[in-house]
Amino acid sequence: MPARPGKHRDMKDTPTVSARTRVSILLPLPLAGAYDYAVPASMALRPGEFVSVPLNQREVIGVVWDAPAEPDPNPVPDRRLRPVSAVLPAPPMTGSLRRFIDWVAAYTLSPPGAVLRMAMSVPAALEAPTPQAGWILSPPGGNSRPRITPERQRVLDVMKAGQVHAGAPLAEAAAVSLSVLRGMAENGLIRPALLPHRSRFGRPDPAHPGPALGPEQEAAGAALRDRVAARAFGVTLLTGVTGSGKTEVYFDAVAECLRQGRQALVLLPEIALSAQWLERFKARFGVAPALWHSEVTSRTRRDTWRAVAEGEAPVVVGARSALFLPFPDLGLVIVDEEHETAFKQEDGVVYHARDMAVVRARLSQAACILVSATPSLESLTNAEGGRYAALHLPSRHGGASLPEIEIVDLRRTPPERGRFISPPIVEAVTATLGRGEQAMLFLNRRGYAPLTLCRHCGHRMRCPNCTAWLVEHRAQRRLQCHHCGHAEVPPAECPECGTANSLTAVGPGVERVLEEAAALWPDARRLVMASDTLPGPAAAAEAARAIQDREVDLIIGTQIVAKGWHFPHLTLVGVVDADLGLAGGDLRAAERTVQLLHQVAGRAGRAEAPGRVLLQSFSPDHPVMRALVSGDLDAFMQEEAAMRRPGHWPPFGRLAALIVSSEEEREADRTARDLGLAAPGGEGVQVLGPAPAPLALLRGRYRRRLLLKTRRDIAVQPILRDWLARVPVPNHVRVQVDVDPVGFL
Ligand code: ADP
Ligand code: ZN
Repeated sequence: MPARPGKHRDMKDTPTVSARTRVSILLPLPLAGAYDYAVPASMALRPGEFVSVPLNQREVIGVVWDAPAEPDPNPVPDRRLRPVSAVLPAPPMTGSLRRFIDWVAAYTLSPPGAVLRMAMSVPAALEAPTPQAGWILSPPGGNSRPRITPERQRVLDVMKAGQVHAGAPLAEAAAVSLSVLRGMAENGLIRPALLPHRSRFGRPDPAHPGPALGPEQEAAGAALRDRVAARAFGVTLLTGVTGSGKTEVYFDAVAECLRQGRQALVLLPEIALSAQWLERFKARFGVAPALWHSEVTSRTRRDTWRAVAEGEAPVVVGARSALFLPFPDLGLVIVDEEHETAFKQEDGVVYHARDMAVVRARLSQAACILVSATPSLESLTNAEGGRYAALHLPSRHGGASLPEIEIVDLRRTPPERGRFISPPIVEAVTATLGRGEQAMLFLNRRGYAPLTLCRHCGHRMRCPNCTAWLVEHRAQRRLQCHHCGHAEVPPAECPECGTANSLTAVGPGVERVLEEAAALWPDARRLVMASDTLPGPAAAAEAARAIQDREVDLIIGTQIVAKGWHFPHLTLVGVVDADLGLAGGDLRAAERTVQLLHQVAGRAGRAEAPGRVLLQSFSPDHPVMRALVSGDLDAFMQEEAAMRRPGHWPPFGRLAALIVSSEEEREADRTARDLGLAAPGGEGVQVLGPAPAPLALLRGRYRRRLLLKTRRDIAVQPILRDWLARVPVPNHVRVQVDVDPVGFL
């Protein structure tokens, strides 16, 4: 192993030759740090350049990293260094992205190479793009007179002198096969030629006419334009009721960024559901933005990565991983629906994209805008403390009113036996459909029923790999685990007592609500919107179109219906189980329930007709229900803050979770106990646990949790590093670090 972790020597006090011949290369692998390599005399390397280097028996691609601040006390001797093999023909990684990678690694306690891997997710983009060949007309003249068939004539009619035509579109335009083109080339009528490089990404036009902003919108837009024009870092929290036009307002900031000639990045929590957003962007700027998420094809990913690096994609809209794209001059980062937990990446490098967006903007001297109708307590607290600027849009666009929210007390007006929709909602839906308007039933649970049990012996169907009940998906005749993907056909007999036909569904999922709705409103055109019924962006876009074009009367959906949709004909929302998110001891359960239900409610009444929302609840006096009915979310958040402040809970203190897991329960317990014994302490530092995780078994691994809680002025990273360094962890035990956890399963 010739290359061990080592560091670049200080340029000043080492001989120049040695300084120039040694370089740190960060590899996209979970190693402790950068490796040293020798620079061949023929090569001049600058930090950021992509290079190919030998590692053991293979060649890997890495990035020339910056010299560390402190020289390595034990560097690998020069004579044992292996040389860099080649420099790749790609734009070098910018200093701001390199610093971002180092920052994310240090903050999340991840190996820098694991973070680098997210910035190098498209290795093919590092190769020089292959120029595409097409056809051009041969100059007139020549001695032979080839035969001109009608097909050939059509091709000649389509082609313009001096212009290179791509083969497939040319053949299509002339209604001939590609072999006709080849034949013409053999006869000298046309010649192959290289197509000029043309970016597939159009330039969004900031001057393209957009909607005229209302006075409140214009004031907010002007403030945002100023922030972008300042070409400096700063965060603005843009809040406003649902339907107030926040998107139109931040488009103004995007336009200013384009005028500044810098790039803009917009993060959306669920990019697969962005169809309506993309339409609006096109309407505002004339062309579509570049799109970045896991479902775009690898070819498009390569082109997009390359276009971003070359500054040819002025606006990117994407999922959290878009933060690691190689923008050479990022001027604006927007996080829409900033309160969404979907911004937290839970595996691999565990990071919160909203928080890292702020860091990325700071390192790029860019403006950052966090947007939400229901902002997180974290962002509200930052705004209150003056760290973020705050802008608020108080009313809906076009005079639309906010929907009226009422509670249906399930203790007084319960549904009929075996049903889940109470009489008040049945009546309201019937009346709404009767007026020719749309209604929505919301239940944040996929499938038919969350629990299947034996009527005879009480046995419950559970996942063999997880601490979880199996969820029935009746349409697919499956019992599914929503954590590990385990699925089985529902057995005919109880696996415990053997009684036939004794298994019964307990509780509702959206499929069951659909079944009930079909019986209640047989003539209504119904559509289920759940992540498993709308797989992928195309299906979601089609659903949104069908709703907008009034091809649907009744929508039945899970949390994906809460995400920013604009359905102008929807006037009634019925929430089947408003208490659902409140169970369990999650720190943010109340905050999250308010955010989710307020967002769902906000889908109603967005055009002329007023909206109405009915929440079914067993606890109408719960602060969450009261906040939703009064619409006074500020007061609710103040109460939340008052509850969290004294105990130093986030955002008034810091948390980091350690999740210990192993296939051997005893091993998980032993390591968790060792960590508990070595737990840090002292003023303002506290460790809770170890305790079995709520998901004590997940994908066949036993899980234990510890939670480090510190005062806000105490950083968790040095404490964690020191703690973990003192406890040996056996090979088959994993300790996952989750700084600022949002999930506690
Ligand atoms: P929010 O993001 O605050 O929920 P949106 O930006 O989605 O609100 O706006 C709600 C609806 O009102 C959208 O259909 C949007 O196109 C429309 N809208 C908002 N502002 C204007 C405006 N100034 N002129 C025309 N339409 C607008
Ligand atoms: Zn499972």
